[in-house]
Amino acid sequence: MKKLLFSQQNNQRHWVGDGFPVRTIFTYNDLAKDISPFLLMDYAGPVEFPPSKHVRGVEEHPHRGFETVTLAYQGEVAHRDSSGGGGLIKSGDVQWMTAASGLVHEEMHGKEFSERGGLFEMVQLWVNLPKKDKMTSPRYQGIQATDIPNVNLPDNGGYVRVIAGDYDGHRGPAKTFTPINLWDIRMTAGHSATFKVPAGHTAAVFVLGGKVQLGTGETIGEAELAVLEKEGDTFTLSARQDAKVLFLGGEPIDEPIVGYGPFVMNSIGEIKQAFIDFQEGRMGSFERTAENK
Ligand code: MN
Repeated sequence: MKKLLFSQQNNQRHWVGDGFPVRTIFTYNDLAKDISPFLLMDYAGPVEFPPSKHVRGVEEHPHRGFETVTLAYQGEVAHRDSSGGGGLIKSGDVQWMTAASGLVHEEMHGKEFSERGGLFEMVQLWVNLPKKDKMTSPRYQGIQATDIPNVNLPDNGGYVRVIAGDYDGHRGPAKTFTPINLWDIRMTAGHSATFKVPAGHTAAVFVLGGKVQLGTGETIGEAELAVLEKEGDTFTLSARQDAKVLFLGGEPIDEPIVGYGPFVMNSIGEIKQAFIDFQEGRMGSFERTAENK
């Protein structure tokens, strides 16, 4: 059974644009080795937005060298990017956007959600790409809740939504560049479940709501991340309360990480090049996309 390496929490919220009141749960600056291939995690909300004619969000900005994965728990996010990708994700949907060689995008609340108002809760992960794939073409996967297998845990203990990878023989729909397991786990208070994962992979448990106890005894509460050791191929969770848990697993990418702002590459030279390419319009823009149509 995997042991707990450490757990951490961040209760400081900051705004990303005017749409996302986030707690940054980890970044590659502090956790690179322990959490690879994941680079960053922002947890937005849960927060109640009043009805508004103004659509909140983050205006046009670039990315290069990795993927942004947005999980909509409550509320709506509308996305469009300069490679032509775009769509609206709603509660239960996932947007898996591969920035790779570079694009500019905007991330806004859905128009209907803005007008209606309501509870908003999202997770955004940044997932690293191996060096050989950092300069491939951008890709957009809009994954609907109905595309995500929903697998019951034993004894009516809850269920697992398999977003990426494999849980108990059920494969998730997300296409990934390296092996990743991303599971949205819901557990009912008083129930336990043991999860099998590949030995040697990164494994971390993030609790969005409720409280779980690890098989090794430690209790993990709301907005807390538990990073498990890579050794071993099982971990057990016992729900002390009804719990909403995100499992992050994957094969570590053992390559240098050099990042600055919206770019994550392998060297400083590549970061400088990313700024030049963005400034010279080589990551595209919406105007340019419109002209090309
Ligand atoms: Mn972005």
